[in-house]
Amino acid sequence: MPPVPSSASNTPPLSREALTLRRMRNYWIATAMLYVATMSLLAAQVKFGYTPGRPALVLGIVAASGTLGFYALIRFSIRLKIAPDVLAAMQSLFAIGCTMAGYAIAGPLRASLLSMLVVAIAFCTFAMHRRHALLLAGAALAGMAGTMWWLQASDPLGHPPAVEAMSFGYLAAALLSTALLASEMTKLRRRMKASKQDLLAAVETIRVLATVDELTSLANRRHMNELLGAEERRSAPATSCVALLDLDLFKQVNDQYGHAMGDAVLRGFAGAAHGALREHDTLARWGGEEFLLLLPNASPQAARQVLERIVTRVHALQIDGMPPERRISFSAGLTERRAGEPFTEAISRADKALYRAKAAGRDRIEVA
Ligand code: GH3
Ligand code: MG
Ligand code: MG
Repeated sequence: MPPVPSSASNTPPLSREALTLRRMRNYWIATAMLYVATMSLLAAQVKFGYTPGRPALVLGIVAASGTLGFYALIRFSIRLKIAPDVLAAMQSLFAIGCTMAGYAIAGPLRASLLSMLVVAIAFCTFAMHRRHALLLAGAALAGMAGTMWWLQASDPLGHPPAVEAMSFGYLAAALLSTALLASEMTKLRRRMKASKQDLLAAVETIRVLATVDELTSLANRRHMNELLGAEERRSAPATSCVALLDLDLFKQVNDQYGHAMGDAVLRGFAGAAHGALREHDTLARWGGEEFLLLLPNASPQAARQVLERIVTRVHALQIDGMPPERRISFSAGLTERRAGEPFTEAISRADKALYRAKAAGRDRIEVA
């Protein structure tokens, strides 16, 4: 029975899937910008005669089609059931392939292109497990080792073996350290996420402790006072009613069946009464075996109906270990809050009505 609603923000939170999709789209925008920058530089290389035009054009078309294709895959990834880490791996492998091809055709500026591999690995590390990111860095290195070996073997003058070997050394150092650094950052992010969740859970516990009565799980007196204050501050207050409910001869239950049984009766009463409320009514444990019921936007007739429902439910209450003939009952004082009146005055009137109900023989509702 959760009677105290948690505070809700005005805008509904995005679902986990929507958040992942948004993050993937942002990454895609960053990588698309990188592709555009790289292809522009490649075009400049062609213009200045460092790179042959036709292969550069083919690479440009492949890169552009791939980038657009990945946008579509991201957009429909949920429907196509492609996991974000699989998509990240596919994007990284594509980037590695493009860099290998670019390296093969770039001519004297080819070493500059290798920095793109570092970026590709850094990106994928955010979406992947550490082991997979390291595997991908290994794949990038293996791909580049093959490309460099093939270049120096087929054109030793244009691609001197020593230059290729040293370029590879720099690349290996940069790639592996980037993969390790980025995965450390991912670990840090995970730890921060876990701390945030712990913090949210702690805040929720504090909220429950501050607003819920431990024994009955109803709103506690402090929370009810907050609700009454909020109701008083409402700009266009509608008719509302309050009622004080007090269990009849409850001391006898404690005396005859023990305090634990008394606690069970309080819990049983709370459950039964809560089930009879309208959506916006609040029943709070006001103290001991006394309860305050707030019925916003209720006429005295409507409020009385709610109380009658509670009476029926409470009379039918069966508590484990108590003889079935031992009926639980309560007395209530009900009043309508007058326009602009502080709730303390309405509650005091309800208290007097409750006193009259007790004096008149208990198990009844008195209206003031
Ligand atoms: P009346 O019909 O006039 O209200 O009689 P009563 O016996 O209900 O009233 P009284 O004020 O004499 O007794 C209230 C009892 O409620 C006394 C107290 O021990 C008991 N009580 C208050 N809080 C708790 C609680 O949390 N658990 C239990 N088991 N008993 C409680
Ligand atoms: Mg009592
Ligand atoms: Mg009492």
